[in-house]
Amino acid sequence: SYRKGGYHAVRIGDQFSGGRYIAQRKLGWGQFSTVWLAYDTHTSSYVALKIQKSAQHFSQAALHEIELLQAAADGDTENTKCVVRLIDDFKHAGPNGQHLCMVLEFLGDSLLRLIKYNRYKAMELNKVREICKCILTGLDYLHRELGMIHSDLKPENILLCSTIDAAKDPIRSGLRPILEKPEGNQNGAATMNLIEKKLKRRARRAVAKISGRRVSIVGLSETPTKTVRSLDGIDVKCKVVDFGNACWADNKFAEEIQTRQYRAPEVILQSGYSFSVDMWSFACTAFELATGDMLFAPKDGNGYGEDEDHLALMMELLGKIPRKIAIGGARSKDYFDRHGDLKRIRRLKYWPLDRLLTDKYKLPEAEAREFADFLCPILAFEPEKRPTAQQCLQHPWLNLRAQNNEDHVEGQMSNLQIKG
Ligand code: ADP
Ligand code: MG
Repeated sequence: SYRKGGYHAVRIGDQFSGGRYIAQRKLGWGQFSTVWLAYDTHTSSYVALKIQKSAQHFSQAALHEIELLQAAADGDTENTKCVVRLIDDFKHAGPNGQHLCMVLEFLGDSLLRLIKYNRYKAMELNKVREICKCILTGLDYLHRELGMIHSDLKPENILLCSTIDAAKDPIRSGLRPILEKPEGNQNGAATMNLIEKKLKRRARRAVAKISGRRVSIVGLSETPTKTVRSLDGIDVKCKVVDFGNACWADNKFAEEIQTRQYRAPEVILQSGYSFSVDMWSFACTAFELATGDMLFAPKDGNGYGEDEDHLALMMELLGKIPRKIAIGGARSKDYFDRHGDLKRIRRLKYWPLDRLLTDKYKLPEAEAREFADFLCPILAFEPEKRPTAQQCLQHPWLNLRAQNNEDHVEGQMSNLQIKG
């Protein structure tokens, strides 16, 4: 898609916005954009540069995203509300057209990468709690203070905060920025790889130097993106990102929202939605962090589609959908008969959350009960019955502390340690 209307091809050392930002390396990409680590020569710090594809409708989507990000930044002058901060935006003319660019504060790896890096093993519950607090802080802010629905909450769209201060003080941290185009950069991919390798080596040295003591790598990525965290101090901060699908609650524009596995039942049934769709996705995300598995991973099968399987999985975990809810959506007739039973999937095996957590995931009974007690109300089929983010923040589970915390952390981290 590096053609007209598509992505803008970026090379290390490329300059943006009249030379203010210099591309360092690629951080990630999505459907609409590529995201680069860039050095901000005005503030001498690293930033994330999100470069949108150039076609008209991508630009429109970016303008909308900028509007929402700007509103979020305006209402959070202290930058404490767990939402990624927009620093700047501008247009960049390239061979494929005009690209809207967003300059965002530079964050670490996504929770998805963290889960992958842990090889889909369960994460220690105290860390899950810290992460949940951040996500809820972000959602409470978006929902209650701004009137905004994120609409695509999932581990991939929650990024850890970098704890090394490389972003703020690159020179002192030993992660020196690239200020000029490296020689031979024009020669394409081979040279790029070489430069990346060099950067990675440099980053590894820097990490070792910063530590002086043992550090664990919470993130995967190399170079200044490396998220490191010392074993002492267990706060895991993160932020909500990707406002590409977000909307104002009083001005929704899409019926089908959310990524499949994190999609709320009322979205599948098309019975109207509001803030509480984010709460549903939040519960799915919290479960995934605590177990390493997706809460719902629907598949189509013999004679039924993904949607119907999804509804069946929900009912196996949470019990029968109340008839009024089941038959109340524009799509209800596709899946339910008039009694409120699924049309094509008949035999359901009920396996409630607390028992799933003990039987399959081997959580001690008390911990399973407490965690289920936190999650189950958020997974109410009736959207109005779900607690708000503000109410969830009051839940006792968030302030519990598991015993053997220290031992557990040591054990979990031991395979990630770099000895300084
Ligand atoms: P899209 O809307 O195209 O999905 P995202 O905003 O989700 O774009 O960004 C795509 C990827 O880029 C993310 O999954 C992440 O890996 C990386 N990324 C985005 N924003 C940042 C940031 N502020 N700091 C570091 N990496 C980021
Ligand atoms: Mg994304």
